[in-house]
Amino acid sequence: MTYVFPPQPPVSLAIKGSDARFAVRRILCVGRNYEAHAREMGNDPSREPPFFFMKPADTIVEDGAAIDYPPGTEDLHHEIELVVAIGKEGFAISEAAALDHVYGYAVGIDLTKRDVQNRAKKNSHPWDWSKGFDHSAPCGPIHPAASVGHIAKGRISISVNGVVKQDQDVADLIWSIPEIIAYASKDMRLMPGDLIFTGTPSGVASLKRGDTIEGSVAGLGSVNFSIR
Ligand code: MN
Repeated sequence: MTYVFPPQPPVSLAIKGSDARFAVRRILCVGRNYEAHAREMGNDPSREPPFFFMKPADTIVEDGAAIDYPPGTEDLHHEIELVVAIGKEGFAISEAAALDHVYGYAVGIDLTKRDVQNRAKKNSHPWDWSKGFDHSAPCGPIHPAASVGHIAKGRISISVNGVVKQDQDVADLIWSIPEIIAYASKDMRLMPGDLIFTGTPSGVASLKRGDTIEGSVAGLGSVNFSIR
């Protein structure tokens, strides 16, 4: 096999306690999965089934990165999220079997151009340009479920320049991780390497140049980055 140009190497994340890497295939993201955040975005959280959007795999940036403030926005928001790392292929996965497909968990940030997203919503356009831009998915190392167990509760929080901005509990997810996996895999065959960003609590806010950000989930350490 020859290629007309060298293929990009796979995007990958560190795995806590291992020299092996987790090769990232796709990034699925759940919208509106904490009640208070759905309300702060002006939506009714009670009646809506989970919905998804995606980011390209190469939007991942690893812990400790300095990210340039992205072009085309004046309202870059942080969204702290629990990330589920899929380790086993499956289609139409039952809730009962869902956790068998989870390799591990991480702390991620769904960076969002909120002004671009609001314009897209208003005009019934896709969200992609507000969500899938370069460097929009800072993510910490994968913690294998074999080491840390499965995550269903625990503090999820983010601080900007040392000030806590989002602070809630993973137990407050509207749709649980098994439910999310079951829903997503009804329409799409999940594959090893897929990541699922599971939605953000309330308290999303703007970032600016010079900010340092630390996101954390109990049991999964933290992800740190800065904006330059
Ligand atoms: Mn999000």
